[in-house]
Amino acid sequence: MSVRGLGVALVAVLGLAGCNGQAGPPKFDTGPVRATCTTTIVADTVKRVGGERVQVETIMGPGVDPHKYISGSGDRKKLDNAHLVFFNGLHLEGKMADLFEKNHDRWRSHAVAGTIDHAKLRKADVDGGEHDPHVWFDVQLWKSAVEVVRDALVGLDPTGADVYRANATAYLKELDDLDKEIRAKLDTVPKEKRVLVTSHDAFGYFGRAYGYDVIGLQGVSTASEVGTAQRQGLMKTLGERKIPAVFTETSVPDDGLKAVLDDVNSKYKHEVRLIGGDDALYSDALGEPNSPGATYPGMIRHNVNVIVSALSR
Ligand SMILES: [Zn+2]
Repeated sequence: MSVRGLGVALVAVLGLAGCNGQAGPPKFDTGPVRATCTTTIVADTVKRVGGERVQVETIMGPGVDPHKYISGSGDRKKLDNAHLVFFNGLHLEGKMADLFEKNHDRWRSHAVAGTIDHAKLRKADVDGGEHDPHVWFDVQLWKSAVEVVRDALVGLDPTGADVYRANATAYLKELDDLDKEIRAKLDTVPKEKRVLVTSHDAFGYFGRAYGYDVIGLQGVSTASEVGTAQRQGLMKTLGERKIPAVFTETSVPDDGLKAVLDDVNSKYKHEVRLIGGDDALYSDALGEPNSPGATYPGMIRHNVNVIVSALSR
């Protein structure tokens, strides 16, 4: 065999070998479409657009922090088995970003946040990425995720194109209404009290879209360390601006915030309420199936109701 021939043979063998003897994504003939999604927020979007034509698998369940998630072999199976793979992108899935890059040809993978004009993204240094990945907190921005899902489904399964397009159009309209509804609620909080303090910096797009100052104790990723300067800066803001409440998140431990509140209380003689328990905000993951945060619109409404009620006191 010539050197060139040997090379071709090697490429063929390596290409076929993979991990499970699979060279590329499974062939799709007729439905249902098997879609594997990283986060519950992405999965909810795929369910809304795909309806009954799509079976959705989710890698990270309710309350799971995507920044620190390390995938296991069970996840590989779900990904290999899927006709379509959807992830958030923008390095939200910090430890999985590499996996998606390296397996570009192995899976039909789509970053749902991947088509947003970079000019509309917030700059941030996050787990190897350059932009803040929490785009779902601006409802208008999240609409582009719906379009990515719609186009991927139509591309794979043209027989269902009318269904996917109709579902997406109805959902986009619902999101427009949701955006108006929450904006009206958030506008009722007095301007000087529009400050949202949370464990990690997930709400930057929310603040920008709806006119709130946003401060996260941790950076944009939960994998970053909390420095003394950050802690002191937050204490000062809480104490001097007399901010009535700070918010815990369902997917992040709240001990860091608790420690800051004790210090604010002793140094500034100002008591800040820690909003948690059933009122904890959903940040990077939806809630359990029967909770108020079980769906994306439910999560957004829950957060807004909690924020408005705590800051209006
Ligand atoms: Zn986050």
